[in-house]
Amino acid sequence: MRLPPALKRYTQWIGFTAVLIPLLVLLALQYRSLARLDQTATLVHKAGLNNFLEAVTTDVDYFYRTNAERVLDLPAAVFTQDQLAKAAFHFKKKGVEGVKRLFVERFQNEDDHPLYFNPSCATFQPPLWSPELRAVYVASSPWRILANKGGRLERVRLMVEEKDPDYRILLYPITDDSSRVVGVAGMVLDEDYFRDHVLPEAVKQSLATFDSSDMEPIVSVADAKGRIVYTNGPLPGRRMEVQKPFSLVFTDWTIGLASRHTTPAVVARRNFLLNVGLSAALATVLVGGVLLALRTASREMKLSRMKNEFVSNVSHELRTPLASIRVFAEFLRLGRVDGPEKAREYGEYIETESRRLTQLVNNILDFASIESGRKTYHFERCDVREVVCGTLKTFGVRLRQSGFDIVLQGAETPLPPARIDAGAIAQSLSNLLDNAVKYSNLKSANGKTDITVSLRRDGDWIVISVIDQGIGIPRDEQRKIFDRFHRVSTGLVHDVKGSGLGLSIVRHIVDAHRGRVTVESRPGEGSTFSIHLPIDSPNAPDTQPLAAPAEARERPSEA
Ligand code: ADP
Repeated sequence: MRLPPALKRYTQWIGFTAVLIPLLVLLALQYRSLARLDQTATLVHKAGLNNFLEAVTTDVDYFYRTNAERVLDLPAAVFTQDQLAKAAFHFKKKGVEGVKRLFVERFQNEDDHPLYFNPSCATFQPPLWSPELRAVYVASSPWRILANKGGRLERVRLMVEEKDPDYRILLYPITDDSSRVVGVAGMVLDEDYFRDHVLPEAVKQSLATFDSSDMEPIVSVADAKGRIVYTNGPLPGRRMEVQKPFSLVFTDWTIGLASRHTTPAVVARRNFLLNVGLSAALATVLVGGVLLALRTASREMKLSRMKNEFVSNVSHELRTPLASIRVFAEFLRLGRVDGPEKAREYGEYIETESRRLTQLVNNILDFASIESGRKTYHFERCDVREVVCGTLKTFGVRLRQSGFDIVLQGAETPLPPARIDAGAIAQSLSNLLDNAVKYSNLKSANGKTDITVSLRRDGDWIVISVIDQGIGIPRDEQRKIFDRFHRVSTGLVHDVKGSGLGLSIVRHIVDAHRGRVTVESRPGEGSTFSIHLPIDSPNAPDTQPLAAPAEARERPSEA
């Protein structure tokens, strides 16, 4: 797809946004569904725990209901035909656990009272007055009233009376053939038996069918006052996760469930956070990858743009001196020269331009050999001052032609020798001088400014500085100008053609000498480039590796 030119600059950001937006939408959707899953998981877990409690209470109900129905369902004749002995025999035969007392009450005469079953002699006896007897009266009185009124009971149901929590009573109304209530049979429950046998058994049975591997449930039962009357393990310090009252008897007691180690909500939350964390990490890696790919693509695009500019600049750099050489050579050949002075001047032009060409070609060849890793250096003990003076001499003509005054400072002070490749250092200095000329010409209208070359010792270093009063370099560009093909593209520099190779070669050469190149510059005030070379020391290398390592080439020089 072709983008409009105005958008081309933003290609990478458009690409990045195209990846980022769907990614964010996906993440948001995933977050929402994870949050829902989190809630659902908690609810499902709670429902599971509730089911567990339901199973326990159902077991308890079943125990008491079947016991009561099995034992208390007496034939009406027991009451109507005074066959209490049969009832006693029935109670004895059936036998029942978890009961403190079995009793019956007839509603035949006004003076009929409850009779307690005595299991030791299997007979019914009238009880003495006691709180228990009062509870029995309270439980049976509605049925007595119904019987006295001659009322009928269509469906016989097991009744529970728990008004007095010390005497919990199960009561079974007995009806005759015409559905009239003729008496009741009942049992007073044994609380200790419930706590010590019925509950543990019901909990054990439910635990056996409950998948509790991840939470180790603690079951506890609290009485009406909140006192814990039963638990199957040490209670965790927090609240029960689910609670429920018993449904048939002991209805003022509640059974609760908590996990020993962690709550289902915490488990669900942990899973949720883990999933969100993983998604976020994945998204970060993805975004990082995309950014990296975009950065690489952007670098490649920049490099390719710089290479294109390089080709166009170099063609221009080659064409201009060649044209001058041809014109001046033609003048000389055709004898169009006004005297020997002019001939000398033309000769100087030809010499200068061919030197510039040589320097350009040398730079290109050097760059090629640096890039391919074939560049070698030959180090010799040299007097750096001689190399600098020699370079200035060959460069002098061009400087004079360009209208520059060159000042050499520090030439009189003797310097210690250094192990250098004299040709390479001369080339570095030429590149710096060439830049000083190029980027100063632009500034001075009359084309006359000083360029200072200073030579000094600074500790273990010999420092060669080229100081110009040219256009200067913006601060944020100072680190980049040592990169290959990089040219400051703002302001006046635009008008100067160049290859963008000069400083990268300087840096390579200086790096190979184990030195460093620095720049200090202020836009509009000028620049100072300094080459720092180590003075000769016994362990200096004779030759350097074929090429500096890649990172040395990429690394911007300290600015
Ligand atoms: P070029 O062939 O473009 O001069 P260089 O590698 O020598 O390539 O320089 C890189 C860039 O650094 C130049 O394009 C210019 O913008 C900037 N530069 C180098 N020397 C100077 C200087 N003395 N004054 C101002 N700018 C400079």
